[in-house]
Amino acid sequence: MRCRQVIDKISEYIDGELDPELARELERHLAHCEDCRIVVDTANKTVEIFNHTEPAALPDDVRERLNGMFVRRFRKDGPN
Ligand SMILES: [Zn+2]
Repeated sequence: MRCRQVIDKISEYIDGELDPELARELERHLAHCEDCRIVVDTANKTVEIFNHTEPAALPDDVRERLNGMFVRRFRKDGPN
C-alpha cells in the first residue's frame, strides 16, 4: 500500500468501516511510515473532537485539509 492509498482510506479506517484485509495492509504501512502515522494520528484526534458534537464520518473539509497536508509533506520528497 502506498501513502496515497492510506490517505484515501483514512476515514473508513478511523470509522472502522475499512475492509479488514485493507486495514491490515494500512497498519503494516503505518508500521514503517512515520508520515502516515502522523496523518492518521491527526485525523484520529480530529474525529474524536467531531464525535463529541455528532457521530459523523470525517467531514469533507477535514479530509481536504489532510489531503493538502499530505501533498505538502510529500511534494519535497517526490512520490513515495
Ligand atoms: Zn505512508
